[in-house]
Amino acid sequence: MAQLPLEGKMQEIRADAPSLDRRIFLMSCGASIMPQPVVQAMHDYLDLEADVGGYAAADIEARRIADVHTSVARLLNAKDEEIALVENATVAWQKAFYSLPFKAGDVVLTVEAEYAANYVAYLQIKQRHGIDIRVVSSDETGQVDLDALEAMIDDKVKLISATWIPTNGGLANPAKEIGLIARRHGIPYLLDACQAVGQIPADVEELNCDFLAGTSRKFLRGPRGAGFLYVRKERLADLDPVIIDHWGAPWVERDRYELRADARRFETWESNCGNRIGMGVAIDYALALGLDQIEARCQILSDRLRGGLRDISGVEVLDLGPRPSAIVSFRAEGMPAWEIVRQAATRDVIIGVTGKASTLIDAERRGLAQHVRAAPHYFNTVEEIDTTVEVVAGLLKSNHTN
Ligand SMILES: *Cc1c(COP(=O)(O)O)cnc(C)c1O
Repeated sequence: MAQLPLEGKMQEIRADAPSLDRRIFLMSCGASIMPQPVVQAMHDYLDLEADVGGYAAADIEARRIADVHTSVARLLNAKDEEIALVENATVAWQKAFYSLPFKAGDVVLTVEAEYAANYVAYLQIKQRHGIDIRVVSSDETGQVDLDALEAMIDDKVKLISATWIPTNGGLANPAKEIGLIARRHGIPYLLDACQAVGQIPADVEELNCDFLAGTSRKFLRGPRGAGFLYVRKERLADLDPVIIDHWGAPWVERDRYELRADARRFETWESNCGNRIGMGVAIDYALALGLDQIEARCQILSDRLRGGLRDISGVEVLDLGPRPSAIVSFRAEGMPAWEIVRQAATRDVIIGVTGKASTLIDAERRGLAQHVRAAPHYFNTVEEIDTTVEVVAGLLKSNHTN
């Protein structure tokens, strides 16, 4: 076999995450393993806080903290002033969505594989303001049907809101093509890029998105409790943040505040500085490896995993789309997903269960209940993928003979 992307750096990559030698970790779609430089930077910052107190620590490390905005901007090919740092991707997404001025009759167009947190927000705004939620159907490959999307656009559509790579189901929606349609019709486009950032390149200019939400803890390999929002500069002026504090909106006179001109209007004053630094280091780490290389390696490993699983009798790989993501979803006849996950863990293979409620529309359409997800990342090896397939095959075999 030809050399895999990043193969020359594997020793270093794996040395940065020593636990990878003890178990096969395939849950970067949930919360990944942080590389040592991330952990070290957070430790150092925590030690500094313990030493001098949180305020002085932030002063001393002001440069590093400010650089996190720049790292996110580099990751997304955005401008510094278009980035807000927040607690997680959900908050990032909410800050954009809830700030849009919806009124009765407005339409939000979304996709079948939409993430639960986003969909319940549509439902709440439907209850509050009487918006209509229209779900674009999927094409025969399982990704959003672009012709159907375009055909559904009219004057009432005030937002196109899509999940790029859903939390399960293996799909990667055509985010760029959706962006071209949104741009052509001048409709704001909100992209949930949670599972994409750190797995594949995410360039807001190519994507033509107006808002993008991302998280630290998944494929970026940063800490939990950190996320970011991108807001296109041209949209900033019309977006009145749904909630503000005196950081995003300084109190300039007794009866007046002034919204910050940049995306920091969506931030709050208080934050976990150590987490932010960790996220920044994680982003720099991914950028140094190269998102193209990361994507290429993830693709090869996940294709191999899919192939291996498909060859096991009784296993059904559930992934959709012409070019599936690195999140491999499957189920097996006669063995519940949670049982596969539990038994795999006893053999040091870390995979996860996912349920209907994360992507309800897709799950109902396809009759999916609980199933297993396993997400190879660039730090995984071909041998680990083959072992994972053997372990799953072995579990099913002993299950059948019992
Ligand atoms: C995980 C996930 C989120 C939420 O990310 P948080 O960091 O938990 O806020 C949003 N969308 C998708 C598609 C996800 O998989």
